[in-house]
Amino acid sequence: MNIHLHSYNFNYILYLRDNKIIRRFHNMTRQECINNLTDIFLQLKESKDYSKAKERLIGEIKVDRLSNYLLHKYEKLDEEEVEVLHLLLDTVDLIYNNSSEEEIMTDEVYDKLFNLYLNNNGEYSVGASTLESDTATHNYPDLRGTIKKVHFICNDDKENNENRKSLEDYENSWKRTLDSISYNKIKYIMSIKWDGLSGNIECDKFGSVLHVYPRGLVSANETIDKVYKFYDYSLNGHKINGYDILGIPRKSFDKPFCIKVEFLCSEDSLKILNDEYSCGFKNRRSAVSGILNSDNTNPELINYLTIMPLRYQLFNDKDINMVYISEYPYPVVNISNRNKILSNIKKLKECAEESGFSADGVVLTIDDKSIQDKLGRDDDKGINKYEVAYKFPPEVGTSRIIDVDFTMGTMGIITPVAKIEPIILKGNTIKSINLGSIDRYRGLNICRNDEVKIKYDVIPYLYKDNTCESGWEKIEVPVTCKFCGETLLENPTLMCVNTECPSRQKGKILNYINKMNILNISEAIVDELFNERILLTIPDLYTLDRYRNKILCLDGWGPNRFKLIWESINSKRDVYDYELLGSLGIQSVGRTMFKRIITKVSLKKILNCLEVGKKNKLYDKIIEVDGIQNKTANKVVNGLFNMKETLYRLMVFLNVKVYEQMDIKGYICFTNIRDKDLEETMNSQGYEISNSVSKKTSMLVIPDEFKGGSSKLDKAKNLNIPIYEISEVRKMFNK
Ligand SMILES: [Zn+2]
Repeated sequence: MNIHLHSYNFNYILYLRDNKIIRRFHNMTRQECINNLTDIFLQLKESKDYSKAKERLIGEIKVDRLSNYLLHKYEKLDEEEVEVLHLLLDTVDLIYNNSSEEEIMTDEVYDKLFNLYLNNNGEYSVGASTLESDTATHNYPDLRGTIKKVHFICNDDKENNENRKSLEDYENSWKRTLDSISYNKIKYIMSIKWDGLSGNIECDKFGSVLHVYPRGLVSANETIDKVYKFYDYSLNGHKINGYDILGIPRKSFDKPFCIKVEFLCSEDSLKILNDEYSCGFKNRRSAVSGILNSDNTNPELINYLTIMPLRYQLFNDKDINMVYISEYPYPVVNISNRNKILSNIKKLKECAEESGFSADGVVLTIDDKSIQDKLGRDDDKGINKYEVAYKFPPEVGTSRIIDVDFTMGTMGIITPVAKIEPIILKGNTIKSINLGSIDRYRGLNICRNDEVKIKYDVIPYLYKDNTCESGWEKIEVPVTCKFCGETLLENPTLMCVNTECPSRQKGKILNYINKMNILNISEAIVDELFNERILLTIPDLYTLDRYRNKILCLDGWGPNRFKLIWESINSKRDVYDYELLGSLGIQSVGRTMFKRIITKVSLKKILNCLEVGKKNKLYDKIIEVDGIQNKTANKVVNGLFNMKETLYRLMVFLNVKVYEQMDIKGYICFTNIRDKDLEETMNSQGYEISNSVSKKTSMLVIPDEFKGGSSKLDKAKNLNIPIYEISEVRKMFNK
């Protein structure tokens, strides 16, 4: 028998079972979760089957719920949780860096998890998990990677059980390698740590930009062109030149060079992007990642970003040079002068705030070349040991409760969300705060008009202390579901257990958007439109234009944002029959399975059976398909019957093509570049895309004027497989 003891967050439940305490992540014990993640990670490294790994992350690990739990724990993560988080980031990194699989989680969630990890562990080596054999040659490896972070100056500043590091810890880690005289002479150069997206800009000796790489390693399969399209565009009408970024005369160097930069967005630009372009960016950082990472950026928007140069390195030169920008101070302070360090942190913080750009700390770099060389670099972690970043402590502000919303998740789980009087912390306007579980909500004892404290670090955190004035009107937890009226169950998470509840449709809608590769519609948008009762079922996507005026009245919406979404939906109206069926969200029956089914049982036959209600007849046909057993056949039949109405309605809006299995004409492999459109064309002409080169490979596609190396390229040369540049291949396939 299970006795429910206590819970402090949904997904995280303490059970007393057989006198043993088992700590759980949703359906899994923590150890199971760690084991499964490890298994996924290792299997992935071996098989390089990225779509399988993605499927397992979503299906087995329930990555959205796990992320949600980790982000809303509100207490320090314990060791096991940190391990889970690390494994999760590693696996997602591996998938993102090596495949074109997307949308395991939104960039925003990834960034939050990443920051959460840094805050709990102090450092993370970005991209360290990238498969080495697939790594493209990186001409300036010393400029990649990240920086070690500390959250305190002295160990005395820490509270109990704090495992985040201090500047003192950092210094102790290398102090002994130096004698006391040289240690006492050490000075730090202090500089602002900007908070945008970092990247490396590689230039030739004339300053022309060759490549722009993201902060981590670049893997062979990554579409470099897609990463940051900065260099394709000009900044305010001028083609970007590396010397201009550094602010030095052209032809200053006689060899190629690379600049480590931070891409930033100012407060003023954010306002323009949101007011005039209706981008709906939450903060300056999300504006930068939104513009740089999106597939269809409006090139105009790039003019609203700023490139902040940080370091540069000449080709084949060991030295990394710091870039000094005249607008900002770079104080030099002796290592032992803690007061001076603190006063400079304050000064740099004020300076950053005045600049309008977002900054999250101060970088301290040891100002002595010989000591820098001595401490060196940890290549595995991508960290220069002679520098460290002090992170600003979270900001705290005061606000008032307007109301509490009880929002419905995709699985019927209800989460309390506090609506507060808007408050700006770290450049984010905060209007609503996720309170985590119902238990925590009750513990907070919230009334309308209560004064509350808001702390903003990775995510906003709401609490009350004894200085807070109290409101008067208590906000009760709902007892019935607002979508279906069913009595809610609390065990210990509050949820609507009615599987027919319309709220469950939200998960199906998200799944459909994901499978159909419809861009620009985030979970937050689906949430919003669902709660507004505009988007309640999948086919409603295709009638959004009827609600255009209503949508434009919502907070943060403008004509451009609506247009972008509407165009994304319309661009995916041509589908194959199996793609449509595999996107309906029938449990554990995806596109691959339907591809197999559809070659034996046509969509027409399926619709016929649905029409006349003959479940048995459909079952008999499907069980005949190779590799389909009783259990799956039942799932397919029941799933199709449940989704009958949805399917009929979708057929009206979509142009459904009949998939005919073709003989495979050949296998094509890409290295150092991918092109989804081209791959689709190849597929439609009977070519399969393979991830590795073998004797069966018909051609290897490389980037134009590719000078780097790759294991696939070597193998193709050995096997005498034709190698083509991508622009030639595009011509061959009339793209
Ligand atoms: Zn319900």
